[in-house]
Amino acid sequence: MKANGYQCAMCGGVFDDTWTTEEAMDECKSTFGEKITESDDLVVVCDDCYKKTMSEQNSNFFVEFEKKLREIIKTHENNGSK
Ligand SMILES: [Zn+2]
Repeated sequence: MKANGYQCAMCGGVFDDTWTTEEAMDECKSTFGEKITESDDLVVVCDDCYKKTMSEQNSNFFVEFEKKLREIIKTHENNGSK
């Protein structure tokens, strides 16, 4: 399954989908461990935000970003929809 595009969880921009869902999920796992739930509610970021996150992953920025991701996932779960 491939979407037409994705919305960056960081900057909110919409981009062409260049990854398959599996690839993105793989990347999420290697980046965030098992904290990302395996569901339709995949949280993705654009290349720019991704690089930014990776380059600052030991900083407070990364902590805040992870919090944001969790909030987004929680919101999706509460809504019970995609
Ligand atoms: Zn972005």
